[in-house]
Amino acid sequence: MASNSDKDRNKTEDSTVQSAKPESALETARRQLHHAADHLSIDQHIVERLKHPKKVHEVTVPVERDDGTVEVFTGYRAQHDSVRGPYKGGLRYHPEVTRDECVGLGMWMTWKCALMDLPFGGAKGGVAVNPKDLSSAEKERLTRRFAQEIRNVIGPNKDIPAPDMGTDPQTMAWLMDAYSMQEGETTPGVVTGKPPVVGGSKGREEAPGRSVAIITQLVCEYYDRQLEETTIAIQGYGSVGANAARLLDEWGATVVGISDVNGAMYDPEGIDTASVPSHDEEPEAVTDYADTLISNEELLTLDVDVLIPAALGNVITEENAEAIAADLVVEGANGPTTSAADSILTDRDVAVIPDILANAGGVTVSYFEWLQDINRRAWSLERVNDELETEMQAAWRDVQAEFESRDVTWRDAAYIVALSRIAEAHRARGLWP
Ligand code: NAD
Repeated sequence: MASNSDKDRNKTEDSTVQSAKPESALETARRQLHHAADHLSIDQHIVERLKHPKKVHEVTVPVERDDGTVEVFTGYRAQHDSVRGPYKGGLRYHPEVTRDECVGLGMWMTWKCALMDLPFGGAKGGVAVNPKDLSSAEKERLTRRFAQEIRNVIGPNKDIPAPDMGTDPQTMAWLMDAYSMQEGETTPGVVTGKPPVVGGSKGREEAPGRSVAIITQLVCEYYDRQLEETTIAIQGYGSVGANAARLLDEWGATVVGISDVNGAMYDPEGIDTASVPSHDEEPEAVTDYADTLISNEELLTLDVDVLIPAALGNVITEENAEAIAADLVVEGANGPTTSAADSILTDRDVAVIPDILANAGGVTVSYFEWLQDINRRAWSLERVNDELETEMQAAWRDVQAEFESRDVTWRDAAYIVALSRIAEAHRARGLWP
């Protein structure tokens, strides 16, 4: 199983060239680009442009530690493509942040925003630092200095960061404050994922799990499966997994397995998901509440209708793909299925609904947050959830149309929708000069 640091990087080799070493985010993004381009007639120069980021900013971030010494970190902001609107994407604090990782993940964001038809392009950034080694005050100084270093290239109409690994709503509040102080005006729209009291959106935190639940419901409907007669296993009981589990439970499905890093809880009669604390409520507590314990590996191969990997990347691999018993896999985590496993599941007629669709609720509600900030008007939770449902249904219909008309996998259909929009926008705007 992949380590936590593999989160978001994900996936292995192209099905034709399989290797044990996981692909980098950049290799995955480029492979998906070529794969989708093969189905479309796109001008080759547009594909060539999309293979590369528009700009990558690398900055030095000196930070005074609590003991008075100064440490120097490296920060990045990779901006991939802005043909459809300002750049959008997370900022992570993680020791393994690199230029190439930011470029690759920024490309993923371009595809995800286009698939959701949001008026944004893709970006990603971060600082190569272990946030666990920093006190809160050090993290604040790091964030404010990083904000200052990238201030000229971000902004509500340029590039809008959001939380990612190692960063949270508080980080976004510091970033927004630092930016606003320098601009001389309060500018909430410069970041999303802020606390609601400074312009964050209601429902943002639950949104990726909610979109996973909505897409699971839609895919069940598509395959004529009643949610009331559907059994589900979910790996990971954090923001994505627990929110998806509780909604699906509420909507009538039977959640028979949930897990965290310590192991999995199994109850064929159905788990009362509200009674098990999520990662946020009580970290890594799932197994403390379980009568029947199984391993995470056993959870993945449970005989259920739907499997939702919602913990980390590269968990469905060549080794276990044959043993996956679910008919449907809905990707809650980023990149939980390696490319080799994807081919095996396709051959076995297991439908895999890709991450860029299923967990896109996060960036979609970030878009709502940006709209609320620009308009200086907060939406009710009900409005956020209603509009999220509408956007998810629209994206689902677009992907379904490509899936049916081209006879491709759900993953390819999603990338085809995304790339056609981006390519069409490039064609319409043209190349200047
Ligand atoms: P989280 O930290 O809130 O929860 C992660 C959960 O996974 C925890 O229950 C943890 O115990 C469990 N876990 C960790 N290692 C595990 C292992 N080896 N085996 C089994 N379980 C393990 O994280 P999250 O925000 O829910 O994110 C989960 C995934 O979803 C990641 O891939 C993330 O990139 C992706 N994602 C998150 C968001 C978001 O906004 N939260 C949006 C899109 C995608």
